[in-house]
Amino acid sequence: LQNESTLANDIKEEKGFKGHDMLAPFTAGWQSNDLHPLVIARSEGSYVYDINGKKYLDSLAGLWCTALGGSEPRLIAAAVEQLNTLPFYHSFWNRTTKPSLDLAKELLEFFTAKKMGKVFFTNSGSEANDSQVKLVWYYNNALGRPNKKKFIARKKSYHGSTLISASLSGLPALHQKFDLPAPFVLHTDCPHYWRFHLPGETEEEFSTRLANNLENLIVKEGPETIAAFIAEPVMGAGGVIPPPKTYFEKIQAVVKKYDILFIADEVICAFGRLGTMFGCDKYNIQPDLVSVAKALSSAYMPIGAVLVSPEISDVIYSQSDKLGSFSHGFTYSGHPVACAVALEALKIYKERNIPEQVVRISPRFQNGIRTFSDSPIIGEIRGTGLILGTEFTDNKSPNDLFPPEWGVGAIFGSECEKRGMLVRVAGDNIMMSPPFIISPEEVDELISIYGEALKATE
Ligand code: PLP
Repeated sequence: LQNESTLANDIKEEKGFKGHDMLAPFTAGWQSNDLHPLVIARSEGSYVYDINGKKYLDSLAGLWCTALGGSEPRLIAAAVEQLNTLPFYHSFWNRTTKPSLDLAKELLEFFTAKKMGKVFFTNSGSEANDSQVKLVWYYNNALGRPNKKKFIARKKSYHGSTLISASLSGLPALHQKFDLPAPFVLHTDCPHYWRFHLPGETEEEFSTRLANNLENLIVKEGPETIAAFIAEPVMGAGGVIPPPKTYFEKIQAVVKKYDILFIADEVICAFGRLGTMFGCDKYNIQPDLVSVAKALSSAYMPIGAVLVSPEISDVIYSQSDKLGSFSHGFTYSGHPVACAVALEALKIYKERNIPEQVVRISPRFQNGIRTFSDSPIIGEIRGTGLILGTEFTDNKSPNDLFPPEWGVGAIFGSECEKRGMLVRVAGDNIMMSPPFIISPEEVDELISIYGEALKATE
C-alpha cells in the first residue's frame, strides 16, 4: 500500500495528472493534454485496485480476457516455474520448446466442433487474424488459385488493430485516417436484428435476407475472387451482438456453396464465455480456421493462436517443403512462459468444468440486468452466458439515438466507476464480460451498482 500511494504521489506531483508519456492505445484527450488515467495497481479475484487503493469490480475482466480473475495462484506458479526452467527459446527452424508442443496438442483436443490439424502461435488476437490472411493466401497460391484472395467480414465486427486485422474489422474508427480498409476486404451486413430488421421481419427472415445479401455480394465480386469469410460467434467490441436465429446455419451454407473458407474469430468467445467451450459449439459452426487469444492464458501472458484444419495444413506443409520454408512467424510465437501459463489455464477450464460453471451463474447475471429493461433510457439489453451489452436510446427505439454531446454512456460509465465498478463504454453502448469465476454475491453487487448508476444517469 505504501508503494501504491508513493506511485500515486509521483504521478500527481510530477505530472499533475496532466498527460503522461505513453502514446496510449484507443485513448482520446491528447490535444488538451488533460489525460486523467485511472492507474490500476493490483488485482484480486474479480476486483482490481487503483493506485489509491480504491477497489473496483472489474465487470469487463480486463479487456474481456482475465477469465480466471486477477489472482489465480496456479497460473502464477506455472509462469514462475517456466521462468526458472527456460524463460525463452524460439520455435523457428525446427527448434521449439516442450510447452509450445504440449499446448498445440492440448488445443487440438479442446476444439471439437470440427477436427483441426495444426496450431500456429501468435502473441495476440490481432496477430492471429493477420496470420489467418497470410495462411489463406499461401494456401490459395499453393492450390494455383492466385485470384482467390478477398476476405468478407461484417460491419461492426472487431478483429484487431494491426493493418490487416483493422481492415477486417468493421468499425469506421479503425479505418478513418489510416487509409484502411485494405482493398481486398469487403464488409457485409451486421447481424443485429433489433437495429436492422425490416418492419414485420422475423429473426429467421432477417437471417435469410442477410445470407441472400452475402450471396449477392459473392456473385457480384466473383466467387473465384473470394477466399474467406470471418466472423465472431458473438460480436464483442461492436456492442455485444449475438447472432439472430438460424444466422450461422444460413451463412455457412452460402460460403460452402462458393468454396469460401470460414474463419471463426473466437478471441472473446472461446473457453467458456458463452457457456460452451467455444462459440462454434454454441452456434453449430464448423470453421476451417479459428483464432483464439485472451482467455487462452486468462491474459496472464500475451498469447494467441490459429487453429488450422488438416485440409489446409496439409497443403501448407507440402507447399513449404517445395519452397524450403514457411516464412511467417514471430520471435515470440509459442513463447514457453506464455504456453506454460496457457496450458495451466486449459487444465483449470477442464478440471473446473468452466463452461458448466458459466451456465450456472449466467442466468443470475443476464436476468438480473434485464430487470432494468423498462428504464426509459435503455433501448436494448442483449447477451448470453457471461457477455452482455446495454444500448442507451430514447423511446426504446434503435432509431432515436441520444445526442452524442449528452454523453449518456459516458455518464453511466463514470457513475459505475464512482460506485466501484469498471465497465466498457463505447458511445451509448455499455459492455460487460465478467471473469468466469465471478461468484453469485459478486454478480449481485454488479447488478446493484448497475441499477444505482442507471438511476443516476436517468
Ligand atoms: N478479435 C476479437 C474478436 C477481439 O475482441 C479482439 C480484441 O478485443 C481481437 C481480435 C484483437 O485481439 P488483440 O487485442 O489481442 O490483438
